[in-house]
Amino acid sequence: MDKEKLNYYKSLGIKLTPQRLAILEFLEGNKEHPSAEDIYKAIKIRFPSMSFATVYNTLEVLLSKGIVKEILIDGSKRRFDPDVSPHHHFICKKCGKIIDVKCKYDIYLPEELKDCEIEDYQLVFYGYCKDCKKSRT
Ligand code: ZN
Ligand code: MN
Repeated sequence: MDKEKLNYYKSLGIKLTPQRLAILEFLEGNKEHPSAEDIYKAIKIRFPSMSFATVYNTLEVLLSKGIVKEILIDGSKRRFDPDVSPHHHFICKKCGKIIDVKCKYDIYLPEELKDCEIEDYQLVFYGYCKDCKKSRT
């Protein structure tokens, strides 16, 4: 990881342990929208003594600092996205693949929400990816 990135994380007040650095490196540019379990499995190879709680706590810190975003589209698990720019997602109902959707949509705030403070919104497209569409019977 380059110095600039390291200093940026430090400036946010994140304590950078070797395990945390490994988690940050794993997430950098990761397009898989991994779950905490996925991250744990990947990092455990390098840090066999690391506990799942370490991954979980790190993710909570990264969430609170806005370095990762939580993606609530997979009912079975929390997924995390290091791309915190506003974007939408497609999820395949068969293989669970998630595709980023970077298109901008004009939406109108409905009457029910006019008194709320909206921080973010996300469109989710459900269906079958290219590969699963072919093998569907
Ligand atoms: Zn699929
Ligand atoms: Mn994404």
